[in-house]
Formats: sequence, C-alpha cells, structure tokens
Amino acid sequence: MPRFYLTTPIYYVNDLPHLGHAYTMVNADAISRWHRLSGDEVLFVTGTDEHGLKVARAAEQNGMTPQEWTDRMSKQFVEAWEQLEISNDRFVRTTDPRHHAAVAELLGRIYANGYIRLDSYRGPYCVGCEAYYTPEELVNGNCPVHAIPADEVEEENYFFELSRFGDRLLRWYKDNPNAVMPESKRNEAIGFIRGGLKDISITRTSIDWGVKVPWDHSHVFYVWYDALVNYATAIGFGEDDTSFSTWWPAVHHLIGKDILRFHCVWWPAMCMAAGIDPPGNIFVHGWLLVGGEKMAKSKLNQVRPADLAQEIGVDALRYHLLRDTPLGPDGDFTYEGVVTRYNADLANTLGNLFSRVAAVVASKCGGLGPAPTAGGRLAHEAERACETCRSAWERFAPHEALEAAWKLLRETNAELEAAEPWKKEPGTDVDGVLGDALEVLRIVAILASPAMPVACSELWRRMGLQGTPLDARFPRDTRWGGYPGGLTVERGSPLFPRKQTAPDIR
Ligand SMILES: [Zn+2]
Repeated sequence: MPRFYLTTPIYYVNDLPHLGHAYTMVNADAISRWHRLSGDEVLFVTGTDEHGLKVARAAEQNGMTPQEWTDRMSKQFVEAWEQLEISNDRFVRTTDPRHHAAVAELLGRIYANGYIRLDSYRGPYCVGCEAYYTPEELVNGNCPVHAIPADEVEEENYFFELSRFGDRLLRWYKDNPNAVMPESKRNEAIGFIRGGLKDISITRTSIDWGVKVPWDHSHVFYVWYDALVNYATAIGFGEDDTSFSTWWPAVHHLIGKDILRFHCVWWPAMCMAAGIDPPGNIFVHGWLLVGGEKMAKSKLNQVRPADLAQEIGVDALRYHLLRDTPLGPDGDFTYEGVVTRYNADLANTLGNLFSRVAAVVASKCGGLGPAPTAGGRLAHEAERACETCRSAWERFAPHEALEAAWKLLRETNAELEAAEPWKKEPGTDVDGVLGDALEVLRIVAILASPAMPVACSELWRRMGLQGTPLDARFPRDTRWGGYPGGLTVERGSPLFPRKQTAPDIR
C-alpha cells in the first residue's frame, strides 16, 4: 500500500487560530483525505510550538506557569481544527517529553558529528520574532517584521555550522528537482544558499523555557530548532526506528512562504548533519491576504475561522479556501468573494442540480431514482473529470480538482435543461437523463468529499446510498454505473441556501 506522510507547520501558541492557519490546515486535510480515498496509508500531522521567550512572558503576564499557559493555548488549536473537520492523525506538542527526547537525540547526533561549536554572539535580536538579525536586515534599526526596535544582545551560544553545508545543499537541490515546490520557491531557496550561509546560533542561556541541551544543561535550544524536529518526533525518531524508517524521508511538508528559509535551508542541513536523509518534499504556499495584508496577531484584519464557518458553514468555508486560492501564489480573501463563490458553485451548480433532479424524481418516478444509462457523453465527461482530479490532487492543486468536478456538474445541468424531463411523460424519456444526473451526483459526492466531507455525506444519504462517500475508494467507486437505481431520493431543504449578502463578521 502506498504511504503518504503530510505535515503542516506547528503553530505558535501565542497566536490564536486565524484564517491563514485555516487555509493551510484545510488544504493539508483535503489532500490527506484524497490520499485516504485512493487507498493510501496516510499519516497527517499537525501540532503546536510551545517554547520560547514570548510564551514564557505571556504566561507570566497571565499569572500562569508556561505549562499551564501552553496547555490552555494548545487546546484552542485542537478545538479549532475539530470545528473545521480536520482529520489529522497525530498532534505534536513540543512540550511533550517524547518531543524533548527526539530533539535531544537529533541535535545530540549533530553535536557528536562535529557540526556544533560554542561561541559568543552579539547582534540585533527581535523578541517578537525570537530571531537574530544582521544589521543590514533591520529597517532603521527596527525589526523588518514587527517594526519595533531590535535589542542588542550578547550571549554565549552553541552554533550550528550551517556554513559547511552550502555545497551539499546545492547538490541536494540539483539531485532532487522536486524537493522544493513550486519552482519559484525552489529558486528562492537556492538563491539564498548561493548568497552564502553563515553559522547560526541555536541555543540560549537567557531563558529556560525550552528543550535542554543534552550536553550542557545551562542552555536550551532556540525555539526554532526544537520546533523543526517535530516532523521527526511525530514518527518516533529516536524511539521507534521501524516507525521512523517507515515514514521518513518520504514526507511532504506543507508550509507558508514566511518560513521557507527554516524549512528549505536549515532543516535539510540539520538532517544531513544528523546523518538522516533530508525531507522528500517541501511545498511552499503563499499567504492568504485580507484586503492585501498578511494575517497576524498584531493586525486588525484577523478573521476567526470559527466565526466564518458559523456564517457560511464549515463545508462552504473549506470549499472556498480550496477553490479560490491555489497553493503557491498569494491569494486575497474577501467576504464578497466568499458569497459569490458560494452562490455560484454551491447554491446554484451543485445545490440546484440535486434539488431539481430530486423534484422530478418525485413527480415522475414515484420518488425512486432511476438507474443511469450504459454511458453516453456524461459518462465520458465523468471519466475525464476523475482523471483530472487524480492528477490535480497529486500535484497539490485542489482548485483544479474541484473545477474539474464542477465542470462536470455544469455539463449535467446543461443536459438536464436540454432534455427538459419535467415537461415529459414518465418512462424512458425521463429515466435516462435523471439516472445519468444521479450518477454524476454520486461521483461528484466522492470526488468532492475531501473538500466537503459533511455536505457530500449528506448528499449521499439523500440519494439513498449506503454508508458515506468517505468509505469509497478511488478509482473503483467512481467508475460509471455505480448508482444502482431504485433508491429513495429525499429532496429535503436546500443543501446550500442562497446567501443574499456578505457575512457581517467585521
Ligand atoms: Zn520581529
């Protein structure tokens, strides 16, 4: 059985789940669901990043211990993902003792292999980013991200000798053309490596809220180094070699472009230094912007996924995120865009097709859906849609997969309008076209189930089918002719009631 291991970034607990996180999560979830549908053994992992100075400070400000604070904040992510029907198999928390053990093991190997040295470091440091900057990177002395003055910090730190990995990384990029996708992001990473790599400070002595350095307990690892190791922790690194070698290095890391450098330069080099293979694939997506601005805790444009889901429905929100913002470039999120897409694709194309078919089945066929024809034009179109879906999901292009399924729905609507079964006498004139439409709806319920698991299950149930589309197998169950006919079709209330105005959640 093919295996598919997909990770999202682990989210920093000082944030609350926002739409930018939800965008990554819904894409990762839908892609994982597609692979489960295809019969792959899937491991889909997310989690929370819980160490560092910012967390320790926030805990103190809230009168809690860092552990109490992270327990409370991590739970918000768990709950947000449950609300969005995210089907992650594991959830890594970096405060878990298993993660501490994996970090100590992986960084310990790098140390044993001679790629870590002690040195003193002085430079501008942004508390907001928990990162050192070079003086050239600052904007008028301010952090380029937070626009607040950077502190001048001097510490004795352990350094990872990243500078020794430039050639090895470039060779790795050359030998693995698909290691980083899309190509523009791959080129960005290569450009960064060609620009020359400096050794990086990976420990701190000024705080103790972190993973202790195993060979020197006066230091903890800088939060980023500990966080990256979560992808190894999740599959039992240092604890269960069979599990680790089962899933590694054939991993897909889905990440946003702001953390490209950590994932596409530091992390592969850390793997090389520890003597393990670098990750198989890193897919870098753009930002989901709201009114042209990145979502962040410090910005007013944060949109709560739960609020939006309540307004338009979980499935509709998922569909919108997958359909309107392809993975790769930046996308712009607008309330008007959500409503336009919802009405066009969900209320009209899918919802109306089902509702019309169910109405005519009730009036002309005694409520029992007729079987499809042996296969005409729609059967051919359905086969094409299935092939496009397969290829699109494999390429992390959910928007193309959904467009292929909706094209099939639009063609079915056109066939129905041309045949006008509602004007005809019961019998063969109406049976064929209704049966074909029901068969298309059955196939689309499977093809779209990774995007809209709840709505597709409801559509399935109303068509009188057994089980749910989530139990289906691709391509076995999307072959033409699977709808048996003779099942009770329940029209019910609209699957997606039309929306008049943009949701008012500003
Ligand atoms: Zn900053």
